[in-house]
Amino acid sequence: MTLNRYSTIDSKNKREIVLLRGNGCKWRKCRFCDYHLDFNPDDNKNYKLNKTILKKVTGKYKVLEVINSGSFTDLDKNTILTIKDICLKKDIKKLHFECHWIHKDCVKSFKNYFEKDGITVKIKSGIETFDYNFREKYLLKGIPNVSPAEIAKYFDEVCLLFGISGQTQKSMENDIQTGIKYFNRVCINIMTENKTPIKPDKKVIKIFKESLYKKYKDFNNIDILMENTDFGVGGDKENE
Ligand code: SF4
Repeated sequence: MTLNRYSTIDSKNKREIVLLRGNGCKWRKCRFCDYHLDFNPDDNKNYKLNKTILKKVTGKYKVLEVINSGSFTDLDKNTILTIKDICLKKDIKKLHFECHWIHKDCVKSFKNYFEKDGITVKIKSGIETFDYNFREKYLLKGIPNVSPAEIAKYFDEVCLLFGISGQTQKSMENDIQTGIKYFNRVCINIMTENKTPIKPDKKVIKIFKESLYKKYKDFNNIDILMENTDFGVGGDKENE
């Protein structure tokens, strides 16, 4: 089985999305994550793969989201050049990328590189929760004890991770409210079974589904992924 690496999101915030491959997340410690396994240390091989995925982009929504199981800084130079080239050729005006806190100081110049050609760049960061102790002592996310306002100086959008033991309706609601207060968009990921020791907690997921999902599902600035393949990309990780 191979990963699906191209899809379109045809409802809220319509966009094309590509799952590219980089040379690997440089943090790689988050206790809930196994998707950082989708990497290859060989940039030439990554570019060869990424080129074939990027060829599928049509520009139909003028917006492209690029994810790569890590940060945009893990993508090779030729892939970045190709992304820009496609944006210019297909009249894509907005790009979304992802980035871990440790690369926050790369964001400004990266945005400038695209924005000087009229392409807006939005950067999403996996914050998972604004509860510092839960995030750092349990999830090992690697973000210091900084305020949401400080995080928002670097990142436009956040991912939150729900469905883990210890979370409550109140804690999840607080994360959503903080997310929409400080950031343009919030993407809620519900924990799914993977190869890590952190398991989805069915009771917490039920609480989310019965209360918060109903309340927030139609918010235009909130995406909710009940399964991590809901955007149409991803799946089982296997070498390609
Ligand atoms: S920063 Fe992202 S890719 Fe890296 S380990 Fe954490 S969740 Fe996984």
